[in-house]
Amino acid sequence: MDTMNKDFCCDAMNLWVQDRDCPFMYNAYDRYYTMSAPKSLMKKNVVWPCYKVHFCPFCGTKLPKNLVDERFEILEKEYGITDPYDTKQKKRIPAEFMTDEWWKKRGL
Ligand SMILES: [Zn+2]
Repeated sequence: MDTMNKDFCCDAMNLWVQDRDCPFMYNAYDRYYTMSAPKSLMKKNVVWPCYKVHFCPFCGTKLPKNLVDERFEILEKEYGITDPYDTKQKKRIPAEFMTDEWWKKRGL
């Protein structure tokens, strides 16, 4: 039975994004792949350098385009949210925009 999550290019990636000791990260809400400190250390230090990743380090697949700009654009156009990081505006962000639901629904 194939239990692999189809969101990811390979089993290794699927495991890495869930592994708290792996510095490889995936933000579902804007489909952003980065490398930083192990997730288990992130809470101990607020600021870590973060590196954007374009290819899967395991299988070499080109990773899909991130949706940072698209998310900002839709939030502003449809919900009037100009700064999603602002504490007040953040509360108005629909739940689907905090997960991958919004871009899957829109076929992005
Ligand atoms: Zn891969």
